[in-house]
This record gives sequence, C-alpha cells and structure tokens, in this order.
Amino acid sequence: MIAIVGGGPAALGAALACGSAAQIYERNAFCGKKLLLSGGGQCNFTNSLSKEDFLHALGEYRTWLKPAFYAFDNAAFMQLLEENSCPVYVSEDGKAFPASLKSADLRDTLVRLTMKKGTKIHYGARVQDISPQSSGFLLKVDGDTIKAEKVILASGGAAWPSTGSDGFSYRIGKKLGHEVLAPVPALASVSIRDFPPFDSCAGISLTQSILIIGKDRFYGDLLFTHQGFSGPLILDNSRRMQPGQSIRLVFDPQDRLFALLQKHPKKQISSILQMMSLPRSLCEAILLKLQIPKDIRAAQFNAVYRKRLRAYIAGAEFKIRNIESLNTAMSDYGGIPLSEVSARSMQSRKTPGVYCAGESLAYSLPTGGFSIQMAMSTGYLAALAAMNSV
Ligand SMILES: Cc1cc2nc3c(=O)[nH]c(=O)nc-3n(C[C@H](O)[C@H](O)[C@H](O)COP(=O)(O)OP(=O)(O)OC[C@H]3O[C@@H](n4cnc5c(N)ncnc54)[C@H](O)[C@@H]3O)c2cc1C
Repeated sequence: MIAIVGGGPAALGAALACGSAAQIYERNAFCGKKLLLSGGGQCNFTNSLSKEDFLHALGEYRTWLKPAFYAFDNAAFMQLLEENSCPVYVSEDGKAFPASLKSADLRDTLVRLTMKKGTKIHYGARVQDISPQSSGFLLKVDGDTIKAEKVILASGGAAWPSTGSDGFSYRIGKKLGHEVLAPVPALASVSIRDFPPFDSCAGISLTQSILIIGKDRFYGDLLFTHQGFSGPLILDNSRRMQPGQSIRLVFDPQDRLFALLQKHPKKQISSILQMMSLPRSLCEAILLKLQIPKDIRAAQFNAVYRKRLRAYIAGAEFKIRNIESLNTAMSDYGGIPLSEVSARSMQSRKTPGVYCAGESLAYSLPTGGFSIQMAMSTGYLAALAAMNSV
C-alpha cells in the first residue's frame, strides 16, 4: 500500500495516478480545507498560459518543476475537470477557475474522482510519525500503526496552519534526514511604517507598477491597503522583504513631470499628477506627504517643489513595518530542499521510498493559479514514480 499523507491538491493529484494502490490519511474531517479558501473561495486552480510561458512564470523553479508539469500540465487539469462535470472559466488574464466560481465544486470533483479511482480516504486521521523499516514504513496514525510500502508526503507547508497544514511535513522531513529550510511567509501583504497619508488610498490598485528592492526591479499590479501594500506585485515578492527594510515604488516611470509642467502651465499640480494615470486620492496623498499645496499651478511650481516631487515619484521610499505572519500568509517559502529530492520522481534522496509533493517542497510560486497546479502536478508525478517502483 502507498500511504498518501494529507488530503490537499498534492494528495488528490497523487490519488489520480495511484488509484486503489494508495490510501489517503487526512487529519481534517474533509479534504482540501486550504483549497476551499483559495482565490477568495473561487479557486484560481491553474493558468491557461502556453506550456512554455507557464514554465517561464515558475521563475527560478522552472527547470526543477518541468518534469512534474509535463506529467500533468495545465491543459490536462482543465480537461480533467471539464470531462467530470466541473466546467472551467478562464478570465481575460488567463486565470482558470471552476465556472461556478465555487472552490467547493472543484474540491468535490477531485474527491469524487479519487473515490472512483478506488483510493480510500481516511478522514480525521492525523499522521503523527513515519518510521522507515528494513522494508517499507510504519506510520503512527492516531494511536494505530499502519504499514506502507511507500509514502507520499503531501501534508502541505506551514502557512495558514488552521487549515491543517501546520508544518508537519517539515518536522517529519527533518526526521527523515532532510536539511529543512525554516519557513518564512510568502504571498504575504506588507504593512508600512508611518503609512498615512497613504492609508486614504486603501482599495486603489495600480496596474504594471514598478517595485524596487535593493538593486532589483519587479513589475506587476499593486494594491493599497489601510496599512500598506498587497496585490500580485507585493505578494509575489514578499519573501524577498524583511521588516525594517526599505522598498521603493516608481510612480512616474517615464519621467514625464517636467514635460507636463511645461505643457500645462495653468493646470493645478494635482491634475498634472493625474495625467500620469495616478488616481486622484493617490496624487493628493503624495502632495500631502511632500507638503506641497495641491492647488498650486504648474507655472508657480518652484524649483524646490519640482526637485522634491520628481525625486519622490521616481522612487518613493517606504519602510516595511511588518510582513503578514505565517498565520494568514497564502504560502510559505521553506521546507524540504529541492536539491534533496529527485525532480524526475519526487523521491527523497535522503529516505528512498518517501516521495514529496506540493508545499512540503521548498519552492514558492507567484499568484495566478501556479501553486495549486504544481501541487497537483508534483503529486501526480510522485504517484507515478511510486507506482512504478512498487
Ligand atoms: C487564503 C489562500 C488563498 C490561496 N489562493 C490560491 C489560488 O487562488 N491559487 C493557487 O494556485 N493557490 C492558492 N493558494 C495556495 C494553495 O492553496 C496551496 O499552494 C495548495 O493548497 C498546496 O497544496 P498541498 O496539497 O501541497 O497542501 P495543502 O493544501 O495545505 O494540503 C495539505 C493537507 O495535509 C493535511 N495534513 C497536514 N498534516 C497532516 C498530518 N500530520 N496528518 C494528516 N494530514 C495532514 C492538511 O490538513 C491539509 O489538508 C492559496 C492559499 C491560501 C491560504
């Protein structure tokens, strides 16, 4: 028997390939608690990018994750759902959701398929320990001892622990000989020191903004919150940030200020800023921050104001107060190092017979449906490999 630890997308992906050869042990009373939360309850489960572009979006992990993606790619995932009474909706930006926009429909479809394939699911079954034996493994599950020939570790990461994924994968990974990387929040919002007057911009989103961290520039959509920033640009890069660190935002990437001031001498400075596609409340907050009267006209805009404003909108500095904690971050960066797992089989190089999938692995992917897809893909590949070596 192959024991699959966990009942999230990585486990359900594994069950697709294992069928009746495997049994799922999920500590909750139902599968996919985190899946239900995903995409604000709508579940952005994959992305319709071409194979090449999808892999490109995986960034530094693309080479390592390639075999898993090819084993079960985004087209396969969407087709599987379509063929099993869960129609798919793809938004203009390529994000794929169940057409009902209800994560429960996708979760129910995957669980139904799992049962149809013959994988038994044990609910309320918390795996407490995994011990390698001379042949196979002994699993301690709520006081019972279970024998398994192989183990697929699909018990998630350490983010949002109230979903059941409380870092068990990392604790057991250590026991099984891995140099587990301590988890830090990923896909997390940030709060900013002395944020007012920008708190009045909460809810504003800017498309294709530029974020500077150290010498690196990142591009994406930015969202203002009451205490700081969120949106894909911040979520995708939060693991590169630390409290106390400064980040910079570019509000005028084309350096248009001087040209606009000259072209529109009678316009008020707040209107000039709005010509750079910045929302009014943001323009007013910038001027308030810089102590520049918002109704001053371009013709009266003196050299001191010009210099101050130009420098600010070319790279406004914000100091990070805090990064959302693991308790509510969407993901974490940490876990079982990829160098200690075979990318071709997901098999642990430290404890053969154990296969790792999903967020138990130390990768961190951008928003857009990539995490759920790669949890399914790594689970599927792990199961294929485990089946072939039984
Ligand atoms: C609020 C939120 C929104 C998100 N939105 C998106 C989105 O829109 N798109 C996207 O791609 N990703 C999204 N994600 C991330 C995505 O949900 C995860 O990447 C994905 O669920 C990881 O799958 P997994 O199977 O590896 O782990 P999990 O989904 O965490 O599943 C692991 C399972 O293992 C179980 N388990 C843990 N320990 C044990 C144990 N000892 N014994 C038995 N069972 C155990 C847990 O109860 C859990 O059910 C979101 C995450 C959050 C928190």
